[in-house]
Parts: sequence; C-alpha cells; structure tokens
Amino acid sequence: MKNSQRKKIIDQFRVKPGEKVRLKDFDPAWMGTEEMRELGKRELKERAHAFLQQKLVDLAEAQELLWASDTYGVLLVLQAMDAAGKDGTIKHVMSGVNPQGCQVYSFKAPSSEELDHTWLWRYMKSVPERGRICIFNRSHYEDVLVVRVHKQLLAKQKLPPECLRADHFWKGRYEDINAFEQHLARNGTVIVKIFLHLSKQEQKQRFLERLERPEKQWKFSEADLAERAFWDDYQEAFEEALSATSTDYAPWYVIPADRKWVSRALVAEILTSSICGLNLSYPEVPAEKQQRLAKAKQQLENED
Ligand code: ATP
Ligand code: MG
Repeated sequence: MKNSQRKKIIDQFRVKPGEKVRLKDFDPAWMGTEEMRELGKRELKERAHAFLQQKLVDLAEAQELLWASDTYGVLLVLQAMDAAGKDGTIKHVMSGVNPQGCQVYSFKAPSSEELDHTWLWRYMKSVPERGRICIFNRSHYEDVLVVRVHKQLLAKQKLPPECLRADHFWKGRYEDINAFEQHLARNGTVIVKIFLHLSKQEQKQRFLERLERPEKQWKFSEADLAERAFWDDYQEAFEEALSATSTDYAPWYVIPADRKWVSRALVAEILTSSICGLNLSYPEVPAEKQQRLAKAKQQLENED
C-alpha cells in the first residue's frame, strides 16, 4: 500500500484540533475502506497480519535510529474501556523492539504518596528519556475520566476547597494537560495518543469469553462489570477529553477496536510513521574518530 493511501486511512481516525468528537460517528467495527472490504474478511485479516509483521520490522529499525540519535523521546498514550485490548496491543506492537529502548508504565489508582502531590506529578516522573519509546497504559487522562465519572475519587486528591470550587474545574484540567503535553513536545517528545474504541456489545462478548474459558478467567474482575454500568458516563467523559486535548503537537486517534487485528495494524502504523516522520539518520562519525577506528581495526588485524 502506498504511503499516501496509508496516510489517508490514518487521517480519518485523527481528531482534528478543536473538533467536537462524537464517538457515534466512529465505527468500532471498521475493517477497511470499501475497496479493501471487497477482498473479504479472511483475506483482509491475512493481509492485516502480514502488514503488521512488516510494520514490526519498520518499527524495530525506527526505534534503533531513535536510540542512536538520542534526541527525541516518544510517548504513546493508551486509553480505553476495559477489555478493549490495551495489553494485547502493547504485547503485539512492541514485540519486535529492543526492550532496552522501551518502557511501559501502567497507572492504577494513585498511592498515598502520589495523592500528596499534584495530580500530574506521577506522570511527569515517567515520561520518556531521549532515545526511548515509553507507553502509558492508562495515563494522566484517568484524572479527567475515572475521576470525573466517580467524583468521590476527587475528594481523595486533597485539593484545597477554593481549588475544588473553581469555575470550569474540568476545563482547567484539560488546559493543564495541554500545557504539560506542549512542554514535552517543545522539548523533543513525540506524543501519540490512542483511544481504543470498543463497542458495548463487543465488551460483553469479551467479558463472557473471559468467564467461560478457564485460561482467561484470571483476567476477569468484578470491578470491570461495575465500571460497565457507567458506560455512558465514560463515553461522555471520553468525548469531552478527546475534543479538548487533541492538538497538532499531541493528536488523539480514535481507533476501531472491535477487531483486534485491525486495531493492532493501525496502532503499529501510527507509531511507526510518527517516528519515521522525524527523518532521523545515524550520527556521523567525525573524521578524527574515523582515524582512531581505522587504527583500532589495524591493531586487531595485526594480532597473532
Ligand atoms: P488489566 O485489567 O488489563 O490488568 P487495567 O488497566 O484495567 O488493566 P486494573 O488494575 O484492572 O488495570 O485497573 C486499574 C484501575 O485504576 C482502573 O480502574 C483505573 O480507572 C484506575 N485508575 C487509574 N488511574 C487512576 C487515577 N488517577 N485515579 C483513580 N483511579 C485510577
Ligand atoms: Mg482492569
């Protein structure tokens, strides 16, 4: 597939800055353009697998360049409802990269030490260093998602009363997020944000599968079912957050997640093309160092 075709496909999932997101406008079961769908599901799935394999090779190369040039860091933010495939995406998309150049941080409910700081503190501590790809499995967005849906969590954040009473409290949080991300972007961090968009029906199927298959039961948590009851509240919180925080320097992508082979191929393409877009090249070895290298080579060759 041509570069321009791939770009066009990816572009339709990117939230344009200032755009008001309505998740109903994005099809979670999307599996290709009309032309692609003519191939039939089986063939399409096979092609998606082959595409992913090629992307993994490209990503490994891109990551090596990122590491060698030691100038940019990459932050991949993954957000989704439960069972949308965050863990599987990380496992598959990162399977080809050198573990030394990659870090994954999974953010759960904050600890008491974290609650004693302002809410962005724990995320700031984990942003990527130059040369690395860092994945946030859940992220600073939880503080405008789960905390927004369950307001009692906000009470735990120990905010002074006048901060809590502030008008436009959530708008303030979005502004903080944009400022945080702009700071990172201005200083050499490439930010890619992925929302794995799952349908409520497909979540039910995946939960049922977890319950029915003994080797998957460990993955099921009753808390997931409790959160499912807040589905509409979450969708609304996502819509607002995506609308307020998709920027040129840190775009959101709404990725169809009902078919894992689709979401994995798309995420691999977005991540790879974001790094390749930096047009990096290996650092040149200065002439003076080249002379020393030639000397070292000679010395080795002259050994008995
Ligand atoms: P998996 O279930 O695949 O292991 P997960 O990301 O769902 O992955 P869990 O331990 O099940 O991990 O859930 C983590 C929980 O922590 C989620 O319910 C999430 O909403 C919650 N969480 C994350 N960040 C915050 C936060 N800032 N404040 C409150 N809760 C948070
Ligand atoms: Mg969970």
